[in-house]
Amino acid sequence: MHFTGAAGAALSTAVLLLGLAAGSFLNVVIYRLPREGLSVSRPRRSFCPSCRERIPWHDNLPVISWLLLKGRCRFCGARISFRYPLVEIVSGMLALSLLAVEGISPRFLCYYYFAMALTAVAFIDLELMVIPDLLVWPTYVLGFICAAVSPSPQLPGWYLWERLTAAGWSPWLVSLGGAAAGFVLGFLALYAASRLYRLWRGRDGLGDGDPPLLGLIGAFLGWTAVFPVLLLSTLIALLAVFLMIFSGKGIPQGKTAVTPIPFGPFLALAAVIWMFYGQAVKSWYFSLLGV
Ligand SMILES: [Zn+2]
Repeated sequence: MHFTGAAGAALSTAVLLLGLAAGSFLNVVIYRLPREGLSVSRPRRSFCPSCRERIPWHDNLPVISWLLLKGRCRFCGARISFRYPLVEIVSGMLALSLLAVEGISPRFLCYYYFAMALTAVAFIDLELMVIPDLLVWPTYVLGFICAAVSPSPQLPGWYLWERLTAAGWSPWLVSLGGAAAGFVLGFLALYAASRLYRLWRGRDGLGDGDPPLLGLIGAFLGWTAVFPVLLLSTLIALLAVFLMIFSGKGIPQGKTAVTPIPFGPFLALAAVIWMFYGQAVKSWYFSLLGV
């Protein structure tokens, strides 16, 4: 459902505020999930990682508190990472953008949850070079539920969608099949790539979490998204490596010294771009082919 006028403005404001608040929660997930002894619900209150002092609610408002405190803890003066307001802004913008595209619908919730999981994966992988299973595997379940509850022609691709539904197949089954094919294709593509690389170079070129992550992307965006997302993420990663080399931050020393770069953030970024623009790119590509 889409709303216009005053109702639309009120809804957009509410969704933006909820998105910022969800981003605040996502910061807790990003910090606590990969750290032993901390769970998302315990301790209940947020605390400063430096001095362990409890953070009062008025210092915990999304973006605003970080700006008012000039990015420092009120008690010990330790720097608070720019990641905190950044995650909140990303979360708020994703909520607003998805509202504009999907309206208030089950698919809005599905894509928003997916984008939030990707955001968490990207920042955790960037910091710690690990993709927590707890973040990826439960999200699969949601991906398959979404495919069945809110059938999408993008999951099997329009070609199969039109032919299979015309042949009498249930839309939810065709949609779920597209998600399952996306999962299998995404997982196997990177799993095969990592095994081949290990055979060729005798060491790991990809993290253990990368194949399940591309599988997750396939489950939410369909099998047709797997290779475009892989290509796009590789291009963005190459661009990042060039920028690192030219800025002097990651000059490779000799042939054996390799600075490890996590691939997860690039997969996540490419998946979000494809979620918004994939359909437009596919239409443009097929128009070139004259289909
Ligand atoms: Zn502190």
